[in-house]
Amino acid sequence: MAVQVQTHSSLIAAQQALGQGGTYLAGGTLVMRGVNAGEVQGVIVRATDPELRRIASTSEGVRIGAGSTMADILASRDLDFLHPVARAIGGPQVRAMATVGGNLFAPHPYGDFTVALIALGARAVLVQGGPRPVEELMRVRARPPLVAAIDVMRPRDMRAFGWLKVSRIKPKGVSVLSIAALLVREGGRVRGARIAFGAMGAHPLRSAGAERALEGQALDATSIARAAQAACLGLEPPTDALASSWYRREVAGVHLRRLLEQMA
Ligand SMILES: Cc1cc2nc3c(=O)[nH]c(=O)nc-3n(C[C@H](O)[C@H](O)[C@H](O)COP(=O)(O)OP(=O)(O)OC[C@H]3O[C@@H](n4cnc5c(N)ncnc54)[C@H](O)[C@@H]3O)c2cc1C
Repeated sequence: MAVQVQTHSSLIAAQQALGQGGTYLAGGTLVMRGVNAGEVQGVIVRATDPELRRIASTSEGVRIGAGSTMADILASRDLDFLHPVARAIGGPQVRAMATVGGNLFAPHPYGDFTVALIALGARAVLVQGGPRPVEELMRVRARPPLVAAIDVMRPRDMRAFGWLKVSRIKPKGVSVLSIAALLVREGGRVRGARIAFGAMGAHPLRSAGAERALEGQALDATSIARAAQAACLGLEPPTDALASSWYRREVAGVHLRRLLEQMA
């Protein structure tokens, strides 16, 4: 079947076109691979709306246009807390094209940027409908809504946010797993712990076990050991060419412990 590309000047028009079926194209690092392999066919919808690449500070934090690339993130001073995450995605060519919106719906083992967004409690601004927590979007990945932007809060204390990626090839290998943590401390105790994993399930997700182990605790050797032990509770990591499910379970707690020790 031939591929037909439609270009729209607004996201609303793109949304309407997608209502009749088709695939949205952002940076195309994955969609174009699908086109070349004959897996993506039919109508491809893209949008040239300048808002898609806008990164702006708001009273709530920073609004990142969904079409912003990893290179755009790295060029933004307001997003310095996300620079280590963007820098860990692919090589320079991939970072020049890979968008934040595309990362939300990239299949396993991709989605490293989304892991950080989930830990930070980011919200997706949809073209149709109100804002939704990024983690909620993970449940509708089979039929993703068109995302216009992401709202993310800057951590008040930079030490409260931590990020780690484990890959076999350094510096630009794909994730064996990735971890992001937001551990705000009040009176020396963790409040509202958020820990997200990448490549430990079908999509980026939170570790309820590790979060429970840290909630209300001082970040010390005892709570860190408990969090590491509980890291995989309820998770079913996939087996792929990079690592088996067993291996991911074995090492996830070890890497979480290392990250938490750095943040203590
Ligand atoms: C060599 C290589 C290395 C890579 N390394 C990494 C890595 O280290 N870490 C990592 O996380 N990923 C990696 N990726 C995967 C990918 O490049 C990124 O996840 C990237 O962010 C995807 O963005 P894109 O704009 O290219 O998406 P596209 O290919 O354009 O789209 C991907 C999917 O998202 C949907 N989509 C895109 N934008 C939106 C939107 N605004 N609203 C709704 N749906 C949308 C598309 O319809 C499609 O289903 C790699 C890819 C390659 C080819």
